[in-house]
Amino acid sequence: MERLWAPWRLAYVTSASGNNPDCIFCNTSEPGRGDLIIARGRVSFVILNLYPYNNGHLMVVPVRHVPSLASLTGDEQTELMRLTRHAEIALNEAYSPQGLNIGINLGRPAGAGVADHLHVHLVPRWNGDTNFMSVIGNVRVLPEDLNATKARLQPIFERLARAGE
Ligand SMILES: [Zn+2]
Repeated sequence: MERLWAPWRLAYVTSASGNNPDCIFCNTSEPGRGDLIIARGRVSFVILNLYPYNNGHLMVVPVRHVPSLASLTGDEQTELMRLTRHAEIALNEAYSPQGLNIGINLGRPAGAGVADHLHVHLVPRWNGDTNFMSVIGNVRVLPEDLNATKARLQPIFERLARAGE
């Protein structure tokens, strides 16, 4: 007997395209997650970190579920670096940080939260910031609302993409 509704086939199709149904980066089309995306290229995208270390914490991610720089195609290498460059420009313009951490953690011992889908972190830094919550006179200051972060950064990414930078 044939069944018309076959969710396992969807899973099969998804994994056949190289994506992992259990991966948070592969599942950015799920409700709520896509909202975190602030820029899309052809083979990669820029997404806000749901648990930011600091205001403006971004990640640049290839669309394909790949674990390392070694796995990237030439196109992916080029676009990942271009979007990382756009992210640097956007964060400097929007937040005027005193420094930026830009980095990749490969594997869990190296601190990767999502170990098998490559992503480049960009974290704005200021003198004296301690961690993702600043403590001022015993009052914890929550990071900026993610919608506000998106509203600040998205127009800058759009401008850079239009300019073909
Ligand atoms: Zn993935």
